Amino acid sequence: MEVNLLGIKINAISMEESVDMVARFIKSGRPHRVLTINPEFLYRAQSDGELRGLARRADLVTPDGVGVVWACHLAGNSVPERVTGIDLMLRLVERAARNKWRVFLLGAAPGVAGEAAAKLTSQYPGLQIAGVHHGFFSADEEAAVNSIVRQSRPDLLFVALGAPKQEWWIDRNIAKTGAAVAVGVGGSFDVVAGRAKRAPGWVCRLQLEWLFRLLKEPSRWRRQLVLPLFAWKVFREYKLKKFWTKT
Ligand code: UDP
Repeated sequence: MEVNLLGIKINAISMEESVDMVARFIKSGRPHRVLTINPEFLYRAQSDGELRGLARRADLVTPDGVGVVWACHLAGNSVPERVTGIDLMLRLVERAARNKWRVFLLGAAPGVAGEAAAKLTSQYPGLQIAGVHHGFFSADEEAAVNSIVRQSRPDLLFVALGAPKQEWWIDRNIAKTGAAVAVGVGGSFDVVAGRAKRAPGWVCRLQLEWLFRLLKEPSRWRRQLVLPLFAWKVFREYKLKKFWTKT
């Protein structure tokens, strides 16, 4: 089932169902894109047709965070739970270790993807890391990076270049890498490598992860300004408009 939120379709499925869907994509062998969509992406896509097109080309779109889950609810179509980039990545890595999928980590500063791969292999014995590569390469180097990825014969490719850069990269290159699935995962390698901290469990339960990130990285305040704008847009679209059309 899919939910239409501000013109973008989001899959109304649980984490477990998302992992199962990725397993089907891998079985098919054909290239697939996974987008974990956050309020910032959704908001920007309202005034950016190319970003909307990018979201529409994704094969699986999951709600990345409580803001999107709340917005779907207000739009009258609930989604079962949030499926964030890092949580999805960890669940997929667990499945990859069991199913012998080959995993490639592309992105983050030099050294980080390797550290993340080492942490993941010790946590999930049997995990096959096809390869790693940092995310600071130029447009001219893109073809060379593609060829490194392709030669490693990955099934599953995690791309950590930040949103929406990673989604554009996946859009341009997935078919050239030979991977069956590519997932954009933002700052997840930094977290797995232990270079960045994730909010503690109680902060997540209080749904205040955004506040934690703002306090840890105050430079993000500009980006987070989009959160109230997104909330207002959703409220106007799904509550106020209905109210006025009823009266
Ligand atoms: N990054 C990268 N190449 C770039 C820009 C960023 O590999 O050209 C990495 C950066 O080192 C970090 C991640 O992309 O690991 C972005 O993390 P962030 O938490 O900002 O992701 P977002 O919130 O944008 O999804």
